[in-house]
Amino acid sequence: MKENEAYERLIANGVRPSAQRLAIMEYLLTHHTHPTVEEVYRGLNTKIPTLSRTTVYNTLRILSEHHAAQMLTIDDHHICYDSDTEPHVHFFCKHCGKVLDLMEAEAPVVDVKNIGNNIVDEVHLYYKGTCAECAKRQEKVNEVN
Ligand SMILES: [Zn+2]
Ligand SMILES: [Zn+2]
Repeated sequence: MKENEAYERLIANGVRPSAQRLAIMEYLLTHHTHPTVEEVYRGLNTKIPTLSRTTVYNTLRILSEHHAAQMLTIDDHHICYDSDTEPHVHFFCKHCGKVLDLMEAEAPVVDVKNIGNNIVDEVHLYYKGTCAECAKRQEKVNEVN
């Protein structure tokens, strides 16, 4: 990550850069694992003991509302965040719950301005199934049986 990248991302998207917001933005920029609120909280609470889950929750909402990060609502039990705001396809593994980027898959078109008279400003494409790791594990189980 470039120095000041978190700061510049917040400023560019009109988010006031408080110390906690900077830390959360920086966490997203350095963890491309699509973390949830809980994961961001656990990743930062040793470094910032005053940080609360509520602050993490609210900050991630603000970041996504200002397009400084993407909120992924692939499944209602698993809302997660991505600092990569460029359109790309996500894959949700139904077995381990991991969210992966499918950079090989064609990203949805976002320059569609409207469909009918509806104005489109976000497009999400989710694929769901069994990730490579889980598929390999299942193969092994089948071999044993
Ligand atoms: Zn999996
Ligand atoms: Zn992603």
